[in-house]
Amino acid sequence: RLFSGKALALAMESDQKVRAEALPRNPALAVVLVGDDPASRVYVRNKVRACERTSVRSIEITLPYETTEETVLAEVARLNADPEVDGILVQLPLPEHVDASKVVSAIDPAKDVDGFHTTSAGSLLQGLPGFRPCTPAGVMEILKAAEIDPAGKQALVIGRSMIVGKPMALMLLDADATVTIAHSRTPNLPELCRQADIVVAAAGKADLVKAYMVKEGAVVIDVGTNRLPSGRLVGDVAPDVVDRASVMTPVPGGVGPMTIAMLIENTIRSAEGRLGKAH
Ligand code: NAD
Repeated sequence: RLFSGKALALAMESDQKVRAEALPRNPALAVVLVGDDPASRVYVRNKVRACERTSVRSIEITLPYETTEETVLAEVARLNADPEVDGILVQLPLPEHVDASKVVSAIDPAKDVDGFHTTSAGSLLQGLPGFRPCTPAGVMEILKAAEIDPAGKQALVIGRSMIVGKPMALMLLDADATVTIAHSRTPNLPELCRQADIVVAAAGKADLVKAYMVKEGAVVIDVGTNRLPSGRLVGDVAPDVVDRASVMTPVPGGVGPMTIAMLIENTIRSAEGRLGKAH
């Protein structure tokens, strides 16, 4: 019942490597990290390693915490203008004195492999081609690989952030599910959860989804990543939910690796488009 996102990501990577190597030059992903947030460093390292495994060139740009907004914007402008760069990712959060929305808006939408630019968000809303945010895109790949068609199903998305909940709800809607979005002010989460055929939990609250809330045979996708005081990483879904679910993703090893796989996918597609090999 546990669906390994890690195994699916590895399978995608072998195909991605072949595609990356078939291009006239290696696809290139620029990763901009400002400051030394330890969690961000780990995320960046994992992305760089995935690039190495798939023959994507990673360009790491590490700037000190004190870097001004102007300098970050100038760096983004330089990467926008570089024809050898296919994807630009600015690792969030940025220091407080740097306006993250301004920086994300400065990225050329044609290189917005994180899918956070308003142009990318607008294309998702309107059903037009464009980069999709990697985490919900990874969830859709998991559903596809597990042969779960959302059409006609009741889907519950828990969380309404710009990077997970909202785009997730739109993607499930596009796939013809009937979508409900729950958030921190939703008073009847257990009730909504019990009605759902597909639950995507992205609240960042350990044990939020408990077994009694889940319909027998439901598909449960756990996006949450929560660090317990013991240091252990857990999701938003209680472990015994697996006994009720028909499919469930583990944390770690579920959505996390697929998020990175979709980042690589977006970068390679960007390169394929730029180098005249449409996907
Ligand atoms: P966020 O803090 O921006 O948003 C959390 C959302 O959950 C909010 O919309 C909030 O309204 C909702 N929420 C909070 N408490 C709730 C409750 N009790 N009931 C219902 N809804 C509640 O977080 P985010 O960036 O969307 O990330 C969500 C979780 O997913 C975090 O744990 C994050 O670490 C994880 N995440 C994982 C990946 C991955 O690759 N695995 C990627 C992105 C985010």
